[in-house]
Amino acid sequence: MIVNEEVKVLLSQKQIHERIEQIAAQITQDYHGRSPICIGVLKGAFIFMADLVRKIDLPLRTDFLTVSSYGDTTKSSGIVRMLSDLSKPVEDEDLIIIEDIVDTGRTLHYLIENLRTRNPRSIRTCALLHKPELKEVDVQIDYIGFTIPNHFVIGYGLDAAQKYRNLDYIGYFPNPKPKTI
Ligand code: 5GP
Repeated sequence: MIVNEEVKVLLSQKQIHERIEQIAAQITQDYHGRSPICIGVLKGAFIFMADLVRKIDLPLRTDFLTVSSYGDTTKSSGIVRMLSDLSKPVEDEDLIIIEDIVDTGRTLHYLIENLRTRNPRSIRTCALLHKPELKEVDVQIDYIGFTIPNHFVIGYGLDAAQKYRNLDYIGYFPNPKPKTI
């Protein structure tokens, strides 16, 4: 484990991996006989996606897109921007959107609406973390790793101002530093 003394562990690597095995088994069962495209939402989902797809026993395909709603702050701007798009059309394909965390729900809502216009066969959603306290938009999450309290979490792909993505656990700062002017 990478140790950072300021950070409190919310979910250990072991807990995350055990849950990923369960979600992967469920996806394997649900998509039997099909070849879904797992769409990783960058940057935050890159580690979750890498671990998840290696446990799914299907001839799946992968693609990625990049969205941004936070900039370098810990509060969503509420405006979702697509910074890079999928590499191919997805008409008639089964899509599974893989997200790191659903917070207000705005990003996932935006992605579902955007991808729906491309006439896929189906869209499902998978998020490692769900923070329901700050929900602003109703979105369906078909596969949820963990429901967590309202902390700004980091690690396992999630950043604070682009740092901490490489922690192998999910953590948070118990005593956030007061803002200086
Ligand atoms: P939403 O649009 O649901 O508010 O937020 C979705 C995106 O905001 C996530 O994909 C993630 O990139 C970022 N985000 C939301 N909550 C957190 C958090 O607690 N920690 C970090 N690092 N990013 C978050």
